[in-house]
Amino acid sequence: MITGAQDHQGIRDGIRALCARFPDAYHRRIDAERGYPEEFVAALTAEGWMAALIPQDYGGAGLGLTEASVIMEEINRSGGNSGACHGQMYNMTTLLRHGSEAQKQALLPRIARGELRLQSMGVTEPTTGTDTTSLKTTAVRRGDRYVINGQKVWISRVLQSDYMILLARTTPLDQVRRKSDGLSIFLVDIRAAMARGMQVRPIANLVNHATNELFFDDLEIPAENLIGEEGRASATS
Ligand SMILES: Cc1cc2nc3c(=O)[nH]c(=O)nc-3n(C[C@H](O)[C@H](O)[C@H](O)COP(=O)(O)OP(=O)(O)OC[C@H]3O[C@@H](n4cnc5c(N)ncnc54)[C@H](O)[C@@H]3O)c2cc1C
Repeated sequence: MITGAQDHQGIRDGIRALCARFPDAYHRRIDAERGYPEEFVAALTAEGWMAALIPQDYGGAGLGLTEASVIMEEINRSGGNSGACHGQMYNMTTLLRHGSEAQKQALLPRIARGELRLQSMGVTEPTTGTDTTSLKTTAVRRGDRYVINGQKVWISRVLQSDYMILLARTTPLDQVRRKSDGLSIFLVDIRAAMARGMQVRPIANLVNHATNELFFDDLEIPAENLIGEEGRASATS
C-alpha cells in the first residue's frame, strides 16, 4: 500500500513491480478480446494507486498531480495503458474541489477502498467536441430532481464505472451572459441511470478504448447529485 510520503522513484518502482505481473501477452489478449483489463485495474486499485489523489482524511494517499502523472507515465512505460483507468484520477479533482462534504463522505472512502469507481466523464457530444459551451444536453430542475435529455459520444469506461461526472446545460445558451455560464455538473449513478433513461451503446474503435455513445431520454436524477452550484460548471472544472 502506498503512503502520502511516496517519492517519485518509489512510485516508479512500485508501478513497475505491479506491471511485471501483467506481461505484454496479458494486454494483447485483452485487446484481441476487445475486453477491459479488469484484473490489472483491480490490482492498481488494491495497492492504492487509483486513490493517489484522494486526501488521506478520506482514505486515499493524498498525493499531488505530479505524482498522479508519474503513476500514469510508468503504467504506459511498463506495457499497460493508463487510458484504461486515468478517469479514476482526473474525475476526483472535480469532486474534491466542488463536491459537498456529504458527497465526499459518501463516495471518497468507498472509492479509496476500491468498492466504487468514478472513472467516467460525459462531456463530448456529436456536434460539440472542443466547442464545449455549445453542448445541447439539458438538465431541467423539477422539484427534487433534474431531468436530463440529450446525447453524448466518445464517453469512456461507462460500463466499467459506478458513477459518471456529467456536464449538461441548465440555462439555455440564449439566456446567459457568458456562454460558459449555465452549464452544470452532475454525479450520475450509472446502473440506476441505465435502468431508467440512459442508453449506452459501445463504439467499436481501433484503440480498444471502452468508449460509448450515450442517449438520455428523460433521465431523472436526484437534485442532490448536482456538484457545486447550478450553472457554474465553468468555475467547477
Ligand atoms: C478514444 C476516445 C475516448 C474519448 N473519451 C472521452 C470521454 O471519456 N469523455 C468525453 O467527454 N470525451 C471523450 N472523448 C472525446 C474527446 O475529448 C473529443 O474527441 C475532443 O474533445 C475533440 O472533440 P471532437 O472529436 O468533436 O473534435 P472537434 O471539436 O470537431 O475538433 C476537430 C479538430 O479541429 C480542431 N479545432 C476545433 N475547434 C477549433 C477552432 N476554433 N480553431 C482551431 N482548431 C479547432 C481541434 O483541435 C481538432 O484538431 C474521447 C475521444 C476519443 C477518440
